Amino acid sequence: MEFLEIPGYLGLDADGWSLLVGFFLIREEPRDRLPHLCQMDEARVDGALATLHAAGLVRARDDGGTRRWSLRPPSEWLSPQAPAGRDPDRWEMESDELRRLHDLRGMPRVTVVANREIRDRRRLQPEVLRYSTATQPAIDLRVGTRCNLNCAYCLLGHEDRYLRTAAEVAADLALGRERDLEKVSFTGGEPTLHPDLPRLVSVARKMGYREVVLVTNGLTLSIPGVLERLVSAGVTAVGISFDTPDRATAEALWQVDALDRVLAAFEAVGRHPALPLGSIAVVTRPTIPQLPDLARFFADLNDRIDNLFVPNLDFVMPEENAWIHRDDLVPRLTDAVPAVMEALSIAHARGLPLTFRGFPPCLLPGFETWSYDRYMTIFQLVRTPGGIVFDRAAIDALRVKAPGCRRCVHYRECTGVSRSYANLFGLSELVPVEARP
Ligand code: SF4
Repeated sequence: MEFLEIPGYLGLDADGWSLLVGFFLIREEPRDRLPHLCQMDEARVDGALATLHAAGLVRARDDGGTRRWSLRPPSEWLSPQAPAGRDPDRWEMESDELRRLHDLRGMPRVTVVANREIRDRRRLQPEVLRYSTATQPAIDLRVGTRCNLNCAYCLLGHEDRYLRTAAEVAADLALGRERDLEKVSFTGGEPTLHPDLPRLVSVARKMGYREVVLVTNGLTLSIPGVLERLVSAGVTAVGISFDTPDRATAEALWQVDALDRVLAAFEAVGRHPALPLGSIAVVTRPTIPQLPDLARFFADLNDRIDNLFVPNLDFVMPEENAWIHRDDLVPRLTDAVPAVMEALSIAHARGLPLTFRGFPPCLLPGFETWSYDRYMTIFQLVRTPGGIVFDRAAIDALRVKAPGCRRCVHYRECTGVSRSYANLFGLSELVPVEARP
């Protein structure tokens, strides 16, 4: 949600507010970790941190020679009642959201990718709708972070990689079933590296999940028999990450020579035509020139297979590894738009429902119905001492829109840009569309 009252009341500019929101999403951290964790350039952190400290919103603690910073609880600085001159309804909404963000921190949760409420189906593409309803609403269940690629844009960073135990996975599955969810996506890292994956898939099916989506980089699926075993266990749909058909670029991005194995994985899924197939291509600076060829590759594949195939061009999130490599990897949205439009045109002319995500619709006029953000929404199920609650605050805190966006016809369905992108490039590319196309 947009914060229209509280930042101004606290006297915060865009940097101060962005760093404050960052503090809601982290624990106690030393100053030198803040630029990476809050995705803000070194030079701007000091000014913003001084403002937050002076306003009593964050505190410092000296710990063995290291000064560590953390958020003061909002109850110490945020009144539930609107101060004089502030819109009381808006204040209540915004302060509730911040308190929720703070109070639910650290509680067990699962992310749910759900279907967006759709009022006018004429503004949707039938095949994309068919794919989204086949695979959503689903809990997004990470079975571990271990991976056999080392992607330059990975959102998991360089943390020590782990595999979750079967009991941990089962606890998340139970959380979803307590809210009657019937679909689950197994993700990672690379989920096929979990030695118990077939068993976890059959546990999910026995617990009542009707659909099990496998989200994979495809390397393991190139081994004969692996996909068959997973389908027998209960996998019902597959998503394969695939950024570019250009061998040199793929190897540079993934830091592994893996192209032939991923291509073999697509062919393996094609031998199971009942499996809906998705594919996510992360759009980065080096892959922009190759997007038209990527569209041709996907269209050729679509001509050969009978699966429902809905690939997606997903704008890179400048976080973790992508934040570290941002100068090489993260383009301005408007630098990527011409190639994205060309790729969409090529695909659609050949009957392939290629979609995009992370590009606000104001930047892609004429292609609005192909925005996958229109077909999905994300929230979390959090297990609190008082029961399971739905929460969007931690997801919404990662996105931001421009002040003029409220005038835009896409305002309600648009998810804006990531806060990390806004910290890098600002919001001047977002131009409200004032009449519906
Ligand atoms: S102007 Fe704002 S609301 Fe409209 S599409 Fe762009 S980012 Fe979204």
